[in-house]
Amino acid sequence: MKALRLKDWGQEPELTDLDRPVPGPGEVLVRVEAAGLCHSDLHVLDAAPGALPYRPPFTLGHEIAGRVAALGPGADGGPRPGERVVVYGPWGCGSCTRCAAGQDNHCDRRDTLGWHGAGLGRDGGMAEYILVPAARHLVPIGDLPADQAAPLSDAGLTSYHAVAGVRQALGEGSTAVVLGVGGLGHLAVQILRATTPSRVLAVDLRPEALALATRSGAHQSIPMDADTAAALRKATGGVGVDAVLDFAGAQPTLDLATEVLRPGGELAIVGSGGGQLTVRKPGFLPPGVRLSLPFWGTRQELTEVIALARSGALRVETEQLPLPSAPDAVDRLRRGRIRGRAVLVMPT
Ligand code: NAD
Ligand code: ZN
Ligand code: ZN
Repeated sequence: MKALRLKDWGQEPELTDLDRPVPGPGEVLVRVEAAGLCHSDLHVLDAAPGALPYRPPFTLGHEIAGRVAALGPGADGGPRPGERVVVYGPWGCGSCTRCAAGQDNHCDRRDTLGWHGAGLGRDGGMAEYILVPAARHLVPIGDLPADQAAPLSDAGLTSYHAVAGVRQALGEGSTAVVLGVGGLGHLAVQILRATTPSRVLAVDLRPEALALATRSGAHQSIPMDADTAAALRKATGGVGVDAVLDFAGAQPTLDLATEVLRPGGELAIVGSGGGQLTVRKPGFLPPGVRLSLPFWGTRQELTEVIALARSGALRVETEQLPLPSAPDAVDRLRRGRIRGRAVLVMPT
């Protein structure tokens, strides 16, 4: 089978021929239908040797939808062969209390595993088949199209988890700001609209991302420039915003968040853009601000995101490409030329 592999740190990913894996005890073989390309894949490709605990080579791809192809011995009790599924990607140790509760994203043994999940140190879904270590990582999707389902397993799930973490600040009359309207951000806008009564403001550098934010339901889409803080203050009648979800995590977006948050507000830093925040008391953040660093989400939240999408409340804007076009998609994502999510679609 074909697979897009990171062979060593600092190298561009390479389309490689591999043997189709055979599921061992407890494992499930999934025939991949679609795999999303996440900005985190760029962080992996750009990482210096030793910066991440992974050991290449491995197959990229952590947003995966497909069809169960074969069950290893003892892997029954979950989806049956032929059933369509998404893969819950943050594979933990499987035995700590977090993993047992479906919170592999907070696995207690995370630092000792050598991976963060599918396509992140373990062979992922940018391939014709993926070997999933346990049936508990599979969530049925019914007839949801694969290009929709795959991005929901990270872009959708992470956004949903981030919104859940700030929900207490998002009652009637509240304002939420989404910074960065790419693969994750455009789903965060939709999730905020579908699950909170907040007024949703979106900010991005790119005009096409602002148009995407408006299509996704943002009440106002505001360009990122020297006037953004003033525009956000004006939009909140001068009081500041109740929650900032930062999908860039860059210095300018963290600085903006610091400037526009309301006392008692929530700041969720989702993006890994390398910005830094100084936290001290008294300091730059308004009193009562709560900070979260969401990572992916729980298995239960993934079932909720899939249900939300199946109800018609979420629509992922995708650009579909065949697997051999992955290097081109990587290049365009780097240059900010992808609208929504690039999804690699496998031949069926
Ligand atoms: P993306 O490239 O699709 O979207 C990023 C968006 O942010 C783009 O529209 C870009 O124009 C905008 N942006 C960048 N810098 C900006 C700035 N200074 N001001 C305003 N807008 C800016 O990326 P994505 O796949 O949505 O991922 C977003 C970030 O989230 C990445 O850093 C990724 O690694 C991270 N991520 C984190 C998790 C997690 O679990 N915490 C999960 C997935 C992705
Ligand atoms: Zn990701
Ligand atoms: Zn664990």
